[in-house]
Amino acid sequence: MPKNLTLSNTLTGKKEEFVSLLPKKVGMYNCGPTVYDSAHIGNLRSYVFADVLRRTLELNGYDVTQVINITDIGHLASDSDEGEDKMTKGLKREGKPLTLEAMKELADFYTERFKEDLKDLNIQLPTFLPKASEHIKEDIELLKKLEAKGFIYTTSDGAYFDTSKDPDYGKLGNIHIKTDETESRISLNPEKKNPKDFAVWKKNDKLGYESPWGKGFPGWHIECSAMSMKYLGETFDIHTGGVDHIPVHHNNEIAQSECATGKPYARFWLHNAFVNIEGGKMAKSEGNFLRIQTLKDRNISPLAYRYWLLGARYSSPMNFSWEALEGAQNAFNKLENRILELGNEIGNTNAEYARKFADFANDDLDTPQALALMWELLSDKVISNPDKKATVLKFDEVLGFGLGAIQTTIIPPEIHLLAEEREIARINKDFKKSDELRAEIEKHGYSVKDTPEGQKISNI
Ligand code: AMP
Ligand code: ZN
Repeated sequence: MPKNLTLSNTLTGKKEEFVSLLPKKVGMYNCGPTVYDSAHIGNLRSYVFADVLRRTLELNGYDVTQVINITDIGHLASDSDEGEDKMTKGLKREGKPLTLEAMKELADFYTERFKEDLKDLNIQLPTFLPKASEHIKEDIELLKKLEAKGFIYTTSDGAYFDTSKDPDYGKLGNIHIKTDETESRISLNPEKKNPKDFAVWKKNDKLGYESPWGKGFPGWHIECSAMSMKYLGETFDIHTGGVDHIPVHHNNEIAQSECATGKPYARFWLHNAFVNIEGGKMAKSEGNFLRIQTLKDRNISPLAYRYWLLGARYSSPMNFSWEALEGAQNAFNKLENRILELGNEIGNTNAEYARKFADFANDDLDTPQALALMWELLSDKVISNPDKKATVLKFDEVLGFGLGAIQTTIIPPEIHLLAEEREIARINKDFKKSDELRAEIEKHGYSVKDTPEGQKISNI
């Protein structure tokens, strides 16, 4: 029997055994992207982590209802309820009119890009991918509940949550009241009763949705509370996001949700550490961010990036460098070749290796150890190739490299002949002929790649 699943819970500050609310069912909410621009590879770490978590829960026999929200309205540039709305910033950047229709167009475009990123990284689509703009009714209902209980007050620019009415405020990660950031919030908005109070509705006379607190936009935090509870219920199992969300966004979500329902909100809170670049954080606002396309342009495949991420625990910060990613690409190529060498026959899963793997996955997603075990299995002298293949495919259900798709293809002799002719043309520097031969090979449904070990032919 593998060890029970344990997860590091930011709410208690401990690594705890995970037990679901309902037998064999898990409800999980992952804070989603703000779709005013492409996601950067740091953002995508959050979703690779959530995907490995979901797959680990499934390995343990859980049926997972997963929600990743799409923030397509209401996210201000700073956590202190000031600064420009991110979607408006996106509209201005792209020279689009400041209308709700244009905002929707922008959001739809980047939502599709996000879905492409997920596909490239072999991240399974969640059960629900709700858009904030389609849940205004739920936001208003939740705010009315809070208002009826006296948790909300209005100001000239909107409505705010009164944190002094919530004795538990700031319990996630033990965030204390006096921080530099809360100090600065005082000066930014003198109408707030307490520095840590936060906007639940922001007025905007020109653009927005009608509400009892004026025309405008819901606060970013209320959107996550409303969408998570709609799809998962008032109390649910797991909530995730990047560590940057602990002090403000997630504490605010907890405060609003628990004060409205009188019940505990999410039971387990898990946070991924950042991908840093040259010592600083990678952020859209810092202008130092890399997209999946940037990696592809440098011949780093998205799956090699996934491989690199899994080389560290989700809770450890990672430093991006091209050398590190090139190293991951080489290791990933080696892995693909080893899988090819195993052949296409699938035998039996080796129980001992499968148990060790589950132990690592269940130990708060110890992916570095799980990867090391995979290499140990691949060089095991005793286990047959078909059994290795079955076992590695079992590991891949959690690691998610899509190794099942790697098959040895039988290349017909005429294609080998064309490739040999092409090699001779290349040696003679007859590039016109070698290009023609490549086109001929592709016409037959095969592609040819030049590698340090010579030509590699595969199915297109
Ligand atoms: P956003 O689109 O800005 O709302 O962020 C989406 C997710 O990415 C959130 O869970 C953030 O906490 C996370 N995130 C932002 N920057 C990074 C980074 N450099 N490394 C890892 N996660 C990040
Ligand atoms: Zn959120």
